[in-house]
Amino acid sequence: MNVACFSTKSYDRESFDQLIPKHAHQFTYLEPKLDKHTVSLAEGYDAICAFVNDHLDAPVLKKLAALNVKKIVLRCAGYNQVDLEKAAEYGIQICRVPAYSPEAVAEHAFALILSLSRKTHKAFNRVRDNNFSLEGLAGFNLHGKTIGVIGTGAIGKAFCSIALGFGCKVLAYDLIESKELKTMGVEYLGLDDLLMQSQVISLHCPLTPGTKHLINKKTLELMPKGVMIINTSRGALIETKSVIRALKTKKIGYLGIDVYEQEEDLFFRDLSEEILMDEQITRLMSFPNVLITGHQAFLTKEALNQIAATTLFNLDEMEAGKKLTHEVKIES
Ligand code: NAD
Repeated sequence: MNVACFSTKSYDRESFDQLIPKHAHQFTYLEPKLDKHTVSLAEGYDAICAFVNDHLDAPVLKKLAALNVKKIVLRCAGYNQVDLEKAAEYGIQICRVPAYSPEAVAEHAFALILSLSRKTHKAFNRVRDNNFSLEGLAGFNLHGKTIGVIGTGAIGKAFCSIALGFGCKVLAYDLIESKELKTMGVEYLGLDDLLMQSQVISLHCPLTPGTKHLINKKTLELMPKGVMIINTSRGALIETKSVIRALKTKKIGYLGIDVYEQEEDLFFRDLSEEILMDEQITRLMSFPNVLITGHQAFLTKEALNQIAATTLFNLDEMEAGKKLTHEVKIES
């Protein structure tokens, strides 16, 4: 199939180029993000390949259907950016990459936790300035702390294993409890109890209408003072305004985020010569106890290879008209 690949970065191209010769598909790599202004670039292609911040809303899907592009492969796990009802209405098939190295994301969540708990981000800058003072760098042990995990799917499970390895007490909340995790020593609780008892809270559930702004003024009140919140899932799980307020009052002691509700206009781009107009991210960046990465939790060689392999497999199945293993559709 001829595939228009939107929002392409050099690392996407490298991983796909290695595997494409084994498949009968041609990729055209396009830098622009997919939205109503760029969707016409899909004209003449059999399928499009899209990423997390590409728009797959009603107007874009309508135009794709009009262009007779009725196959979409997402090179990501989350699909909250897709209007599934409209896709079904227009007869558009959608596949995703359900799991690609969940350990990549879980390990990044721990990279954020450890940087914040041991202040390595500050130490790095200090030592580069020949400042070897330890003043203000006292951290805390993870061993013996209680970590609350919200969402224990593929990534949440990998996260729990790491946390148990650190000697933490691991609490979890999910709509479906994992027997395997319970056997390993993870304790499932109701959401409120988890929030009240956890010193570190890590979010690994998808963004749905039910989880949007899960971290808000009310839920923050339940948490212990000085709590660490880690979000490597989706930005809108957190209501940023309330989190900023809680950072000011020191209710939140540490915040590590790889995702941000308004990331679409910021992330995956070099804006080093620009003036940032987003007042919330600049406020977040001003706190010494906030660590932000730009949606890079997935970015390991292993994960990129898996994304390319599964995406090409999805295209093979679409072309062959087979039952799709990784199809995304509205739950009936
Ligand atoms: P998954 O589908 O394997 O697991 C999600 C879990 O969340 C499931 O166990 C599900 O039952 C649970 N869940 C659903 N609704 C819930 C709710 N209301 N409350 C509590 N739990 C709920 O997904 P995954 O592969 O573990 O990925 C989790 C999320 O991580 C994805 O949805 C995606 O948004 C995000 N992600 C981020 C990156 C990154 O680079 N930052 C990369 C991959 C995935």
